[in-house]
Amino acid sequence: EHMVSTSDYDVLIVGAGPAGLMLATWLAKLKVRTRIVDKSSVKVLAGHADGVQCRTVEVFQSFGFAHRLVDEGAHINEVVFWQPSANGGLERSKRTPDNEPGTSRFPHAVLGQGRIERFLLDAMKGFNDLTVDRAIAPTSMTVDPALVDDFSPTSHPITLTLRHLTEEESTPTQVGAVPNGLHRSNLLSDDEADAMHGTAAGGAYAGAGQEETVRAKFVVGCDGARSWVRKQLGISLEGEAANSVWGVMDAICLTDFPDIRLKCTIHSKDAGSILVVPRERSYVRFYVQLGTTEPGQRFDRSSVTPESIIQRAQAIFAPYKLECPETEWWTVYEVNQRVAAKVILDNRVFIAGDAFHTHSPKAGQGMNTSMMDSYNLGWKLASVLAGKASPSLLSTYEEERHKIAKELIERDYTLSRMFAARPKEEGGTGEGVSHEDFKKFFQSIGRWASGTAVHYNPNLLTAPERETSLAPGLPHGERFPSHGVVSIADARPWHLGDRFVSDGRWRVVIFAGDVRESEQRAKLDQVAAYLDSPSGFLRTYTPADDDLDSVVEVLTVISNPRISVEPNAFPDVLWPPLKPWGSRAYDKLYADDSSPVTPSDRGEIYKNLGIDPKTGCIAVVRPDQHVSLVCAMDEVKQVGDFFSRFMIPPQ
Ligand code: FAD
Repeated sequence: EHMVSTSDYDVLIVGAGPAGLMLATWLAKLKVRTRIVDKSSVKVLAGHADGVQCRTVEVFQSFGFAHRLVDEGAHINEVVFWQPSANGGLERSKRTPDNEPGTSRFPHAVLGQGRIERFLLDAMKGFNDLTVDRAIAPTSMTVDPALVDDFSPTSHPITLTLRHLTEEESTPTQVGAVPNGLHRSNLLSDDEADAMHGTAAGGAYAGAGQEETVRAKFVVGCDGARSWVRKQLGISLEGEAANSVWGVMDAICLTDFPDIRLKCTIHSKDAGSILVVPRERSYVRFYVQLGTTEPGQRFDRSSVTPESIIQRAQAIFAPYKLECPETEWWTVYEVNQRVAAKVILDNRVFIAGDAFHTHSPKAGQGMNTSMMDSYNLGWKLASVLAGKASPSLLSTYEEERHKIAKELIERDYTLSRMFAARPKEEGGTGEGVSHEDFKKFFQSIGRWASGTAVHYNPNLLTAPERETSLAPGLPHGERFPSHGVVSIADARPWHLGDRFVSDGRWRVVIFAGDVRESEQRAKLDQVAAYLDSPSGFLRTYTPADDDLDSVVEVLTVISNPRISVEPNAFPDVLWPPLKPWGSRAYDKLYADDSSPVTPSDRGEIYKNLGIDPKTGCIAVVRPDQHVSLVCAMDEVKQVGDFFSRFMIPPQ
């Protein structure tokens, strides 16, 4: 063994599951010098997680690939609860929308984790030609304390040794009849190259057994529940030690059960409970909770086979018939609800995803929360690396995501216990959980499960809420909920959320109110004068040679009809000339109006966000679409004060 090379990276990502790939996608988009390594020779091809909540689809949209998921995935629109009936069979006890109407403009979609990884891999390749280096694992990591606070471009405080693994070391192991989750006949063509990766000549094992030394400014451990990076930091997971054990299966079903294409929970009288999730390509996923083990106890996995999971499902489905002629993937999945107490070391090393929190698959949160961790982190790392923001903003990653991880663990704990408990007779006093209580809890967590309720507390990046909000529909710390508007210049209807592209820019949305009123028009002119002034935040933080919208993009939404105002009647700074020709940015100006071709389809954004259409307000939106601050038109200097807390003017 010998050292083959020394290289420097801005960010080194360990682990290319959903968390690592989301981070890599962000960093590729923002042109950060990134390396991403994974010990496995092959990406996930079948099975694992499958639920993509609305909020995650919104984030995919901001990167431009939500349509791939929406087209390819199955959609969850309704949840049905089944319970034992008086005659010994099963009965439908309730139907409920999967998400409350209006939760998001996107559906809750389900698609195998391997396909989600495919989309992220394609995006990072497209953005900056970034690919995963497979069959590689770190063997040592040191952080130089003398360099920790040195953010100069040449300082790389972290040194790692990376070992290039052999085929044996890098082949994923898995319980199940289908080795390594590989079931080549079912692969979509764009996954075939990955399936062959490890065996291709000159592929992953070319340097097997060798080591290389790399240096990095930041390291992010996205290396799953048994995270190596977390161990290096000396951080352990805290929480429940009891495991819940799940049998999970993706199968084709022949059944007379009427709701097989809906998401269902079935509580049988004596045979246990099952969660049914309709999937792409006519597959169905089953989750059967096989048991719970107490601390120190071990579950005997060898007793579980695909046949035993199917038998269990058949017993729960009875008297409905169930045959599974084809199984694509199955596993025994053991989890406990735990969370890392600390996820940052020296503002240089971070952990995200399953490395940060583990929990049951019950609420479909694992892959989502993992991707949303690294989505929270990516733009922060990039803005510090670009010298645009103070490193002090990095600590907000832990503040914000730790709260979310704890909420996840608490809800998952309750849900798992409720799901596992025997159904209690209605009105009974014995052990167990009544069907009514289960339904109530399930519904109460609906908005949370969609991911759209994530709320960050006031911190460096989130101003405290004012006493009476000017936009009750835009709580500080929550993601900006999208509504329809129309472009003033070209009459195109837009979802305003589609303008919040993940490109690292902040956005300031001026809800200018009714600018036909002279008083309101005067306020808009004052805001524009401030924005255009040398001391305003636009000129302060935008490099002189760059477009005026390159650091903070200002969007204006008026409440009066589109054609009641001329596009070129707006102050210049609100639709600035752009390089290289000085053409005007017509895409900054919108109205709360319908388009001429869809006249009955008005987004009513002022009404939906609770903004007064006469007086308006200003909203500051982070690069990850969370709202930082809402203030009045004549308080625009507050926005400058807010940015001055962490933004760094160009040198
Ligand atoms: P992971 O997806 O675990 O990715 C971690 C990556 O890091 C892997 O690619 C791994 O190879 C790599 N890695 C690990 N250690 C190292 C190292 N030392 N060096 C380099 N690379 C390393 N969730 C559900 O909701 N439903 C399910 O049915 C379900 N089934 C699952 C079945 C299995 C077998 C597994 C492993 C997970 C399952 N999950 C399920 C959980 C879900 O997949 C995770 O919550 C989600 O993938 C978390 O994403 P992540 O990126 O944080 O971690």
